[in-house]
Amino acid sequence: MDCRESTSHLLDYQRGRLGPEREEELRAHLSGCPSCSRSESIERTLTDLLERRLPQHPAPIALKLRLAAQWPSPAVTKSSWWERWGRSWAPAGAVALLLFMAVPLYYQAVSSRRAGGAERMIAEAVNDHLRILQSGHPLEVESGNFHQVKPWFAGKLDFAPAVRFLGDPEFPLKGGSVGYFLDRKAAVFTYGYRLHVISLLVFRAESLPWPAGDTGGSGKARAYEKTARGFNVILWREGELGYALVSDVDPTELRRLAAKLGTA
Ligand SMILES: [Zn+2]
Repeated sequence: MDCRESTSHLLDYQRGRLGPEREEELRAHLSGCPSCSRSESIERTLTDLLERRLPQHPAPIALKLRLAAQWPSPAVTKSSWWERWGRSWAPAGAVALLLFMAVPLYYQAVSSRRAGGAERMIAEAVNDHLRILQSGHPLEVESGNFHQVKPWFAGKLDFAPAVRFLGDPEFPLKGGSVGYFLDRKAAVFTYGYRLHVISLLVFRAESLPWPAGDTGGSGKARAYEKTARGFNVILWREGELGYALVSDVDPTELRRLAAKLGTA
């Protein structure tokens, strides 16, 4: 099942109207596709919001479900969910009421997801850093020599991690490893600062929930700084790559390293 099919079956799935085979296929797709599984949770949130927002009108929701159950499954589901949703509502003449109430909620859900997206990226960066600190052998290639670390990534990633800073006596390069950033592989460069460990994650930037104000396209975007669970994180994007710098070092020092790495 591809993303297009998955999207078109989403509502039927949530209503329990898919056959067992299709349901299994969709579930398999959702478990492997972050984008569709996000859409799925937005749909679910929307339904929850509607159920909560309309407690004084239980009938429309019940009616909607009943109508949805009666509505024959279209042979080819080309239409988007809201068209089908709208269609299933139209007989009750309630489409206007629904859109009136649902659309602002829907956009609220989407925009809070965007705002929450940056938080998720920060949280993921901290998790990755913690994983590195806690694992017994955090560095798969242990070397202070950039020219050994960088080629080591070749063939282990589906992109070339562009990192210019080779390390210096103040921020020596300790080594590298392959990690994950949300749904994708990441190159992890580890730098030291006194007794602290600093992780630099490099990953493909596309289709991540970058904070608002990001250019979204190529070129440098403003760096985003945040403290989470006692760690300082600087997140930025340059062209097709995203970068996250994480450590418990002072924000000023971390910013200094970020500058060496070439942030705007
Ligand atoms: Zn998908």
